[in-house]
Amino acid sequence: MAGIFLISHRRKGLPFRTAGAEISTTRNENREVAMRLEGGCYCGAVRYKAEGDPSMQAQCHCRECQYITGGAPNIFIAMPAAGFTYIAGQPQQFTRRDLERAITREFCPECGTHLVNNVPGLRVVVVKVGTLDEPGQFQPQMAIYTCDRQKFHAIPEGMPAFAKLPGH
Ligand SMILES: [Zn+2]
Ligand SMILES: [Zn+2]
Repeated sequence: MAGIFLISHRRKGLPFRTAGAEISTTRNENREVAMRLEGGCYCGAVRYKAEGDPSMQAQCHCRECQYITGGAPNIFIAMPAAGFTYIAGQPQQFTRRDLERAITREFCPECGTHLVNNVPGLRVVVVKVGTLDEPGQFQPQMAIYTCDRQKFHAIPEGMPAFAKLPGH
């Protein structure tokens, strides 16, 4: 998930937002489209909810993500940190110390399920779609970090793909 950190400045301008909003959205009083997600780990000890406008919904092919997925791209929804809370249990955190701007991974201390990433300097929580109660809420927008793509990684036909991030 090295991939997300340059997106924040462009968030408002991204043309991708509405695609993800169609299935699972409600309109709040400010007439902004919001997404409501709920999920948790495999054993159920740690649970979270996330609300707000997703800034990106994508599959990340970076080498780092391959470690946490089983080898496939990581499928994620980046949600505003302000709308994210744990509603049961507390995750354990891990941050590599040998990397500059290393992301922090949060996972269940009981069953080990990796739930989310926090990216330094970005006010988003990168939620792993596999931990959602309803993974079908995910609306694919793009493939990122295809510079690290393996031959066995599939990218759906017609999906925008970027060597790193859009605009880079
Ligand atoms: Zn990645
Ligand atoms: Zn668990």
